[in-house]
Amino acid sequence: MNDEEHVAAHLGPDGMLAVGGVGLERLAARVGSTPFFAYDREAISRRVAAVRAALPEGLDLGYAIKANPMPAVVQHMAPLVDTLDVASVGEMAVALDTGKRAEKVTFAGPGKTDAELVRAVAAGVLVELESAGEARRVARAAEEVGAVPHVAIRVNPDFAVKGSGMRMGGGPQQFGVDAEQVVPLMSMMNDLGLQCEGFHVFAGSQNLHADILVEAQSRTVDLVLELSKAAPRPVRYLNLGGGFGIPYFAKDRPLDLAAVGDNLHRLTEERLRPVLGDVSVGIELGRYLVGEAGLYVTRVVDRKTSRGTTYLVVDGGMHHQLAASGNFGQVIRRNYPIAVAGVPEDREHEEVTVVGCLCTPLDVLGDKVTLPRADVGDLVVVFQAGAYGLTASPTAFLGHPGPAEVLV
Ligand SMILES: *Cc1c(COP(=O)(O)O)cnc(C)c1O
Repeated sequence: MNDEEHVAAHLGPDGMLAVGGVGLERLAARVGSTPFFAYDREAISRRVAAVRAALPEGLDLGYAIKANPMPAVVQHMAPLVDTLDVASVGEMAVALDTGKRAEKVTFAGPGKTDAELVRAVAAGVLVELESAGEARRVARAAEEVGAVPHVAIRVNPDFAVKGSGMRMGGGPQQFGVDAEQVVPLMSMMNDLGLQCEGFHVFAGSQNLHADILVEAQSRTVDLVLELSKAAPRPVRYLNLGGGFGIPYFAKDRPLDLAAVGDNLHRLTEERLRPVLGDVSVGIELGRYLVGEAGLYVTRVVDRKTSRGTTYLVVDGGMHHQLAASGNFGQVIRRNYPIAVAGVPEDREHEEVTVVGCLCTPLDVLGDKVTLPRADVGDLVVVFQAGAYGLTASPTAFLGHPGPAEVLV
């Protein structure tokens, strides 16, 4: 998707860039300062509805909070999804504050400390075990708390998913228990008095290719059916992962959601239900639900020309929106979609480089981008900023103040 397509997706009633129908200058006045992140609650709701419409009825939809843990966003999301998936006790607290029942909160992530496991067991959330050591420690935590822990096993699959922005399964991984180690782990858990409720397989993130996701889901189902056969008790819980990507770069096309949904229909009806009955089956999504609903809004502080290159220096940068600078898991730096807000259509265009206010050459938000001519005081907007923005950025780097966040 190119910049124009992103602009078109965020126009308010007056044909100007807006979030939740509020024009960006007006919103900046309401927020009181730039830079800020603005998230559109209607866009989030619409996206969840689109996913629901594509998924088989009865398939659980989880929201992976780490994509955007702003409490207001999580609160908005809580009644729209079946589970909240957390990766720290901080996120667990945000999830429980929404009123979501503890059994509907799942806790994955390597390196859960003893203190965190005690809190998770005391809360009653589902702990997704990442290793045999963690299984032993959760059993101790359960004794300490005097409660029966909810546990499942996160499995590192014996296959890898190509085409993912971030691979988190297959080969050696810090995540999950290798598929071939799961059967011995289940018997060890039995000895520890832990009841394994099921399996979670998360193979990777940011995938735009429906055919690859379809293959990953199919192989995930093969794997969990195989493991279920060896389970000492009927499996009650399956999390098939997610990894649905969003288009960040000009050549990216949106994911074919219908194709992925159709495959999940087939897998659940033809393969899972006949064998496992009314097992709870779900997927978990982060960026796909919130990423496109967010804008990062900055204001031009300086405009200068250096040896033929025009620079727009804005009051934000990589300390708030690291991913747009190309320093969050990208191999080759490419521009995130970007636009100037509130300028007339017929304003002349020019090639500029948009940089942030940090004193490092890494702080580039748009390298040689074509934009309407912008001056000091104009707003420059970076799209696809609803996921892995503020909380995935080095906010302390260079000591500038943090940005505001608003859910409109
Ligand atoms: C990060 C993460 C997600 C969310 O990934 P997205 O690319 O935002 O959808 C889901 N599940 C697990 C286990 C994760 O670690």
